Amino acid sequence: MARKLSLILLGAPGAGKGTQAELISKRYSIPAISTGAIIREEIASGSELGEKVKEYTTKGMLVPDSVVIDIIKNRLAKDDCKNGFILDGFPRTVPQAEALDKMGVEITDVISIEVADEDIMTRMSGRRVCKQCGLTFHTVYNPSPKGEFCICGAELTRRADDDPEVVKSRLVTYHEQTEPLKEFYGKKGLLKIVVGQEKLEDTSALTVKALEG
Ligand code: AMP
Repeated sequence: MARKLSLILLGAPGAGKGTQAELISKRYSIPAISTGAIIREEIASGSELGEKVKEYTTKGMLVPDSVVIDIIKNRLAKDDCKNGFILDGFPRTVPQAEALDKMGVEITDVISIEVADEDIMTRMSGRRVCKQCGLTFHTVYNPSPKGEFCICGAELTRRADDDPEVVKSRLVTYHEQTEPLKEFYGKKGLLKIVVGQEKLEDTSALTVKALEG
């Protein structure tokens, strides 16, 4: 566990990237950076940036590359990224991956968590998120011990973009724009595939194995 980890997690929306990112973040004491979470915070705060990206996100579309590239550039410049980091949801297009290269960011590992589209549709309908602390749960696969409430006490909600119609269009976007990244990182010899399992602890075991052998 001594090596420095700069990890990209790829995978369709709902494949379990966020959950695995939280786990690896604790295991390696490195930050898990989710562009989606940063974007949701900006929208909730009503900032200028939030207003600019709101429309894309609620429709399940990707926000423009230039916007997310700026977000990630600022985030990676922070001190806590010095000993490594996990990128959850970035890059999502080839130009975003090229921008990381241009920034001189060295990636050590890329893991793609693979889950069939039909299973994603089932999973997303049960996904719940805490607006207060950001933790995610699933009504069937990862229920909160407090039912419809988070362990922090706040009520759990469904994200607007987890609506089934929006999920369908996010899957199309994923296949068209993000999946080509598997080839991009495969060519660099960095890509490892983890087949997402029904139980999240089984996926976690496979993810750790992919990182540590
Ligand atoms: P996520 O929580 O990762 O599923 O992201 C939620 C939403 O934020 C996505 O559907 C996009 O609208 C936007 N988003 C997050 N990351 C990116 C990215 N790297 N590029 C473009 N849009 C993004």
